[in-house]
Amino acid sequence: MTSMPHWLSKQSFLQPERHAVEFMDGSFLTFRDLETRSKRMAGALAHEGIKEKDHVAVLSVNHPSFIEVVFGLSYLGARAVLLNIRLTPEELSYQVKDAEVETFIYGPEQAEKVAGLGNENLTFLSFRDLEGEYQTPELKETIELDEVFTLMYTSGTTGNPKAVLHTYGNHWFSAVSSALNLGFDREDKWLLNLPLFHVSGFSTLMKSVVYGMTIEFHDHFDAKAVVESIRQRGITMVSGVSVMLGKLVKALEGKELPSSFRCFLLGGGPATETLLKQANEAGIPVFQTYGMTETTSQIVTLSPQDAVRKLGSAGKALATASVHIDADEGETGEIMVEGPMVSEGYYNRERPTTRFFATGDMGRFDEEGFLYVVGRKKEMIISGGENVYPAEIENVLVQVDGVQEAAVVGVDDEKWGEVPAAFVTGEGIDRQHVKNACLRLLARFKHPAYIYHITELPRNASNKVMKHLLIERMKEGKYDEIE
Ligand code: ATP
Ligand code: MG
Repeated sequence: MTSMPHWLSKQSFLQPERHAVEFMDGSFLTFRDLETRSKRMAGALAHEGIKEKDHVAVLSVNHPSFIEVVFGLSYLGARAVLLNIRLTPEELSYQVKDAEVETFIYGPEQAEKVAGLGNENLTFLSFRDLEGEYQTPELKETIELDEVFTLMYTSGTTGNPKAVLHTYGNHWFSAVSSALNLGFDREDKWLLNLPLFHVSGFSTLMKSVVYGMTIEFHDHFDAKAVVESIRQRGITMVSGVSVMLGKLVKALEGKELPSSFRCFLLGGGPATETLLKQANEAGIPVFQTYGMTETTSQIVTLSPQDAVRKLGSAGKALATASVHIDADEGETGEIMVEGPMVSEGYYNRERPTTRFFATGDMGRFDEEGFLYVVGRKKEMIISGGENVYPAEIENVLVQVDGVQEAAVVGVDDEKWGEVPAAFVTGEGIDRQHVKNACLRLLARFKHPAYIYHITELPRNASNKVMKHLLIERMKEGKYDEIE
């Protein structure tokens, strides 16, 4: 087993006065402050009976106490089960049971939801319950890379969410591999406004203690605040999903960003070519990434130098990782990944025995080895024997006048087996314009057989489109086709 000094204690020793976390109001915590506070928290957690290997759920928006709880748990060797605040009480109950949680810690704004949970076997503790000073218990000053640190649920886009086990090693190699790719500068400052309960946000927190880097902590995403942080407070790196990038482009209103801003790490799902072009024109250095909860965030990345030349590609595997396509050379097949940031599996489910982890996503390599993610295996439409990926059609639809968002699913068809059905949001959409765009840009068999206009795409707690709901609602006759 490989072990190393606890990351936070180490940074506190190496650079005690350096800011670990800065807040928008100008206040901050140094690495020494963060260590002291996290160890006090470990005392409070131990006082409540939490011990090594316990499963402790955390439900909160980004809050300073969230960080202290996470590190407090790690000093006790307990595991953090991170829960999404947008889940319903039923969904929360499922995850708490599934992950065999014993103690449930929650932030101040979650009290009402927690009251509705009603699980007698759980101990509930608010952040306020953990404010006391207690004798410091024996702390783990050594991190064993093979030990499990966190359990995080997948988004549940394709089925029930699964609890991904992340070891310290997974987090360590994720942070280090990212730095080998993006480089690390002593002056780097990373903006953390993604939720800590997702691997996207959590991985930024890990980078802070692994690199000894300052993070600026926002409790939610606000495009104007991001622009201000970059322009006035020296933020050099931001992570986000495509909706955020779109809002950032708008919020910039043509203003230039300082050259110190060197990376917008884009992940979480596919991005449209239109958005990538807009971001490029706005001078935002976008690093497109591909990854998932199971790969502890990014595993494949495309740098801005290649962004235009390889538009739409997710790039190449990070230095420590390998990607393989389950198909003949140049063909599309399932994306298989391997690397020290790839999780060993899900809690209480059978572990995969294969060397490569099957992602459930389909992709292909170009002749230079750049990866193109074409969509999820489960969402692939087979129409008249041809494979059709919804993303390709969605990319065309969002270019049509008036279309804001688009989602495409396969529906049963007597003649073709399946045909694409499109769902679009927006104003003043003309069916003929949609048809013209499809004629111009897509082979016949990819043209949507149905085009429904809807007010809003149904999304899950991770903001991902729940395509099965679109099909259900369509079948129930809830949607109207565009005239
Ligand atoms: P579940 O596994 O429960 O169905 P999920 O896969 O949506 O949910 P996440 O781990 O949050 O849960 O999301 C990872 C998925 O997001 C990837 O497997 C992939 O389908 C999609 N994704 C991530 N990055 C990209 C990208 N650059 N291009 C296309 N799809 C992407
Ligand atoms: Mg998944």
